Amino acid sequence: MRYSGFKVIKEALSGHKGWKPVWREPEPKKHYDIIIVGGGGHGLATAYYLAKEFGEKNIAVLEKGWIGSGNIGRNTTIIRSNYMLPGNEPFYEQSLKLWENLEQDFNYNAMVSQRSILNLFHNDPQRDAFVRRGNAMMLAGADAVLLDEQGIRDLCPYLDYDNARFPIKGGLMQPRGGTVRHDAVAWGYARGADQRGVDIIQNCEVTGFDINDGICSGVETSKGKISANKVAVCVAGSSGRVMSMAGMRLPIESHVLQAFVTEGLKPVLPGVITFGAGHFYCSQSDKGGLVFGGDIDGYNTYAQRGNLPVVEDVCEGGMAIMPMIGRSRLLRSWGGIMDMSMDGSPFIDKTHIDGLYFNGGWCYGGFKATPASGWCYAHLLAKDEPHPNASAYRLDRFLKGGMIDEKGMGAQPNLH
Ligand SMILES: Cc1cc2nc3c(=O)[nH]c(=O)nc-3n(C[C@H](O)[C@H](O)[C@H](O)COP(=O)(O)OP(=O)(O)OC[C@H]3O[C@@H](n4cnc5c(N)ncnc54)[C@H](O)[C@@H]3O)c2cc1C
Repeated sequence: MRYSGFKVIKEALSGHKGWKPVWREPEPKKHYDIIIVGGGGHGLATAYYLAKEFGEKNIAVLEKGWIGSGNIGRNTTIIRSNYMLPGNEPFYEQSLKLWENLEQDFNYNAMVSQRSILNLFHNDPQRDAFVRRGNAMMLAGADAVLLDEQGIRDLCPYLDYDNARFPIKGGLMQPRGGTVRHDAVAWGYARGADQRGVDIIQNCEVTGFDINDGICSGVETSKGKISANKVAVCVAGSSGRVMSMAGMRLPIESHVLQAFVTEGLKPVLPGVITFGAGHFYCSQSDKGGLVFGGDIDGYNTYAQRGNLPVVEDVCEGGMAIMPMIGRSRLLRSWGGIMDMSMDGSPFIDKTHIDGLYFNGGWCYGGFKATPASGWCYAHLLAKDEPHPNASAYRLDRFLKGGMIDEKGMGAQPNLH
């Protein structure tokens, strides 16, 4: 089904009876050319670009729950490309460019809103670091604007500029950053992939891999065995658990990240705002709720709910820069499982097992990466060589000294 203004009006006048499900519910076939394990944003985007850009025809996405049940439907919806290191910035800029044309590309309203992202700084050394980052971004073709205190005051007069510990001195803004309606991204990619013949199979958990003599020739699932020429794992927070079934131990830890949304307020935040002296980021949804989050819970877990110390920490961060947030009532909070890598950067790579590929380690930032991750993973699967923009995301980079440590934290996944 194509969407158009004409179709919306026609349906409105005829009781909305003509809308059809946007993807089929097929039974799995015995064999596929490519099986993608995990129907999150990255898995669906990979299937979509494999079919659309690389001409692959016989693809299945196997999802253990329902489409949108993972982090693609749990994140705080922020997109940006304000990275500094050469291994990262071209990749995230590619992603931002794909976001900019995504709705036209898959003809689905994902509410892509380039309302800007503003990273506040609170002291001189931090300003210098942001200047350096902004310059690196511009060298990679991204946009960056340095604002002084007055520039921020003009935008957001209600922030706490005189906080004794964390006075706001300015900020690095990326005007093209912003937010996107996260679950619409999953639905849009699912619909586009399904239209091109991809089988999206929900409630189908992968429970093992068929590996003999170092070759992966399929998967075992809760719906039986399915063979494939290539198996592409893309399960985000479950990466460690799933790859252990192939006998692999990953440089990844799983943690829970919580998110929060308040009651609807009148428009107040112009874009995404982040605290520079702690971990707190906030935007306002189109329904008016303030959507915010902070650090992961520091312990390893596969639970999709977190604990109160992080709730307190996030609220403290919010109160430190925007005390007015203390007057709003919290409506909901939830958690998602994060695949935190040792240097805070992801993996898009072949494994040492022939026919088995891995995509994961997205940490806090995998939502904004969704389009480029799908594109680059599809490139790797179709051509068996890494896309130039993802060529640093190798599994052996820790052995070879090729870490991509944006934050300079070292091998401390809970700090990235
Ligand atoms: C609270 C929160 C806030 C966040 N905020 C942001 C943000 O603002 N900006 C940003 O860029 N990123 C953000 N992220 C990170 C981002 O959401 C993730 O990095 C990204 O969504 C992960 O990729 P995915 O969409 O493919 O994951 P998921 O949607 O989690 O997809 C993985 C899928 O694999 C499935 N699966 C697992 N095991 C199996 C199996 N054995 N068989 C079959 N299927 C399986 C799961 O059910 C799941 O649906 C946030 C994350 C959380 C939790």
